[in-house]
Amino acid sequence: MNKILILGAGQLARMMELAGTPLNLDIKALDVSSNKVVQPLSPENIYGDLEAGIKNADVITAEFEHIAHDILAECEQSGKLYPTSNAIKIGGDRRLEKALLESCNAANAKHYFVNAKIDFDKAIEHLSLPIIFKTALEGYDGKGQWRLKSAADAEVIWQDMANFLAASKTTVKQGIVAEQMVPFDREVSLVGVRRVNGDVAVYPLTENHHTNGILSVSVAAPVNEQLQQQASTVFKALSDELDYVGVMAIEFFQVGDQLLVNEIAPRVHNSGHWTQQGADTCQFENHLRAICDLPLGSTALIRPTAMVNIIGEDTVSNEVLAIPSATIHWYNKGKRVGRKMGHINVSGESELQLAQRLQHLADILCKEAFPDLNDFAKNYL
Ligand code: ATP
Ligand code: MG
Ligand code: MG
Repeated sequence: MNKILILGAGQLARMMELAGTPLNLDIKALDVSSNKVVQPLSPENIYGDLEAGIKNADVITAEFEHIAHDILAECEQSGKLYPTSNAIKIGGDRRLEKALLESCNAANAKHYFVNAKIDFDKAIEHLSLPIIFKTALEGYDGKGQWRLKSAADAEVIWQDMANFLAASKTTVKQGIVAEQMVPFDREVSLVGVRRVNGDVAVYPLTENHHTNGILSVSVAAPVNEQLQQQASTVFKALSDELDYVGVMAIEFFQVGDQLLVNEIAPRVHNSGHWTQQGADTCQFENHLRAICDLPLGSTALIRPTAMVNIIGEDTVSNEVLAIPSATIHWYNKGKRVGRKMGHINVSGESELQLAQRLQHLADILCKEAFPDLNDFAKNYL
């Protein structure tokens, strides 16, 4: 069980390779959009095509959820795919995701499915403003969303959405999910892992901050036991229901002392990158352990740790590395506005020390590229 094929060849596959090498795992990635390994993790990791990849692998997994269903079916037929194609599809379709949440009684925002103008009008009746509309398929990093704050904007937003639906070329029918905007106190996520035998381990809840719909900062520090318990219960229910194997993340809105599920990610997750230096075992290694049916590693927090995403920039000052505990992870990707290019992890022996180091980091980094880090660091102090 040491040859792994990852569907998707981005940074998550790359970080799985980094984590899997000491375990002697032979990891190859496949760019599912072209059916070829176009961004190999290393040159010798090239598989010619999907069939060869499936044949040569002991285990197959995925680094993202928007994968063509015929590819998933082919992988599943081999009996090597973890998690199941069902779990991956649910993560890639907000309609299926909502159905899963309802079937597990997991609290989530009031919602309504929209396919035509009549549903749009009903959604506005059924929910109260503000409402957020999200594409059912292919949304990530806040893309494919419309926010309706005032009834006066309804017509313009519907026109834009209708044009979007008409132009959609997805194999599965595209649709829209209307959601009540949640007046949350903060956003948190739970990254957890489940093994074939049903063993589950979860990391401490992570607090997440977004800039323009994209995750910008995640912080893991000792958390409120009640909230952690609530999140763990949801993780157990959803992962049992899916007979899930591997790492899965659940994003929540915290309202008072209640957690509402926002969405799930059937894979390693950006809000779990802090585990590379803040937890006993990182999420990438734990995913690999789970899919190879190895004992799970401890998910305990070693010390308060934060992760700062580097978005749309391909350099940062080397002075970052002079901050004690700070590490930089580049993804080796071409520079593009709004693209996740890398991340910085930083830890402290206490939350105060972490906050001071984040403040120091905010002072060093270019303010335009990290617009909210300064405010966040100040508030966290
Ligand atoms: P990701 O990159 O996390 O997969 P995504 O494109 O799937 O993002 P969501 O996580 O659904 O999008 O939404 C992005 C952000 O928009 C959320 O983290 C939150 O800040 C805000 N948001 C989404 N839904 C709601 C809601 N119902 N109420 C309030 N804010 C919301
Ligand atoms: Mg998402
Ligand atoms: Mg999200």
